[in-house]
Amino acid sequence: MAKEKGFYESSGLDVELIEGGPQSLSPTADLLSGKVDFAITGSGVAIDRMEGKPVVAVAAIMQTSPIVWITLKSSNIRGPLDMAGRNLLIMPPPESAELLTMLAREGIRQEQLTMTPTTYRVDDLIDGKADAYDGYISNEPYLLKQKGVEYNIINPRDYGVNFYSDVLITTERMAEDKQEQVKAFRDATLKGWEYALNNIEETVQLIHQHYSPDKTLDHLRYEAETLKALIMPELVQLGHMNPGRWQYIADSYRELNMTQADSDLDGFLFKPEERTSHQLTIAVSVISVLLLSLMGIAIFKFRSLSTKLVAANHELNELIRTDYLTQVSNRHGFTELAKIVISQSHRQPEPSSFILFDIDFFKSINDEFGHQAGDAALVSFAKILSAHRREHDIVARLGGEEFGLLLCGADEVAASKIANKILTELRELTIQCPTANCRFSITASAGIATLSGTLEAFWHKADKALYKAKESGRDSYFLASALD
Ligand code: GH3
Ligand code: MG
Ligand code: MG
Repeated sequence: MAKEKGFYESSGLDVELIEGGPQSLSPTADLLSGKVDFAITGSGVAIDRMEGKPVVAVAAIMQTSPIVWITLKSSNIRGPLDMAGRNLLIMPPPESAELLTMLAREGIRQEQLTMTPTTYRVDDLIDGKADAYDGYISNEPYLLKQKGVEYNIINPRDYGVNFYSDVLITTERMAEDKQEQVKAFRDATLKGWEYALNNIEETVQLIHQHYSPDKTLDHLRYEAETLKALIMPELVQLGHMNPGRWQYIADSYRELNMTQADSDLDGFLFKPEERTSHQLTIAVSVISVLLLSLMGIAIFKFRSLSTKLVAANHELNELIRTDYLTQVSNRHGFTELAKIVISQSHRQPEPSSFILFDIDFFKSINDEFGHQAGDAALVSFAKILSAHRREHDIVARLGGEEFGLLLCGADEVAASKIANKILTELRELTIQCPTANCRFSITASAGIATLSGTLEAFWHKADKALYKAKESGRDSYFLASALD
C-alpha cells in the first residue's frame, strides 16, 4: 500500500518491490550482495549480525512470528518431540530460526533432523515427500482446509519461543550514509502497513489484482486477519523494536548453540542521529507555534499515549515470559525468576525446593483423545499447580508437558507433601474433552531437588529423580537426595 498509495513517491523514493520465495532463498544475502537496498527477513537476522554481517534492523512488523511447523494429522506428529528423525522442509537457517530454537529447547538436536530447503509447495507435505513443513500460520492452513486435508500446527509460541518476524533490514552502510533515505523509507513503509490494516478489503482487492492473482480473495482476507493479530496494531506502535527483546532473541540463539558468536547487538537497531542544532532550532520554532494553540490537547494526548506505551511494553514483557497456552511462566520466565531466587537464597534461613513434573504417557492422551484434549489437560494441570503456589513461588511450563514448581522456603519434606497433594489432585481430576464428548484423567511423575549451586545443577538433579519416578512405575515422586 505504501507503493500503491504513493507514500514512497511523496517521500521522493522510487521503489521496486521484488517478491521473495524460491528464487531468493536468502534475503540477507541479496541485501549484502547489493542486489537490493532493503529486505524483509526473520528474527534469525540477529544471528547474521552476531556473526559480523553488516545488517541493521529498521523495523519489526510482526510482534509475534507467524512461522509454524505444519504436519499432517495422519502423521501423528503433534509436538516437537515427535519430530526427531523426521524429514523437514525448511527455509535455510537463519531464516525460520525460531522453528529450530523451539526444537532445540525441547531437546531435539539438529543431527536428529533431516532438513531439506523448502519447495514452497505445501503439496509436497500432502504427498508425503516431507513430514513437516515450515509455513505461515496465515497462509498454508487456509490452503489445507480448502483441500480438505487435516493438519496439526506446532507453534513455537506454545513452547515459549516468541520472536519478532518480518523484520525490515538494510545494510550498515545505508543506515550510516543514507540515513534520511532509510528513515523516509521506514516511515513510508509503516504508513503503508497502517493503511493496509485499516483498509483490509481495499488492500485484499489490490493484492489480488496486481500481485497475487493465484490467491482467492477469501484466502487473502484470511491472511490479512491472521496477520493483523500478530502485528498487534492496537497494542504496539507499528514497527516497534524493543532492544531488550532483541537481546533476548540473540541470547536464545546463543544459548541453544545456533551460533557461537558473541551476542553483542551494538549498532544493530537503526537509530537515526539527532538533528543538528541548526535544524533543531528551526524545528523548535515551528513546533512552538503549533504548541501554543494545541497545548491543551497535546498534553492530554501525550499523557494518554505514554500511558499506552508503558502498558504496551509491560504487556510485551509479560508475553515473552508467559506460556501462551497455560498462562503460567514459560521456560524463559522461569529461568529469570529462578535466578533471582537463587541470588537471594543465602538470606533465607530455610532451604528452597524445586519440583519437576512430567505428565505420564501424554503421547497416548493426544493419540486417543486428540491434541485439543491434550491441551486442555495441560491447562488443568497448570491450574492445579497455580493453586498450590504461595507468594514468591514460581509455577512454570518448562517444555511440552513438563512443568516446574519452585517453592521458596520449603525444605524437602515440605516439598514432598506438596508434590503428593498435587499428584493426588491430578489423579482424581476428570478432564472434559473440549470438542468431543469424552472424559479422561491423567497422572504425572515428579523429581524433587533442594536449591543449591547453579540453576542447571539442581534442575539436572530433579530431572534424574524424575526419571527414577518414571522408571519405578510413574504417578509418584522421587527425591534427588535419595539418589546421592
Ligand atoms: P512419559 O510417561 O515417559 O513421559 O511418556 P510421554 O508420552 O509423556 O512421553 P514424551 O515426553 O515423549 O511425550 C510428550 C508428548 O507431549 C509428545 C508431544 O506430542 C506432546 N506435547 C508436547 N507439547 C504439547 C502441547 O502443547 N500440546 C499437546 N496436546 N501435546 C503436546
Ligand atoms: Mg516429557
Ligand atoms: Mg511425559
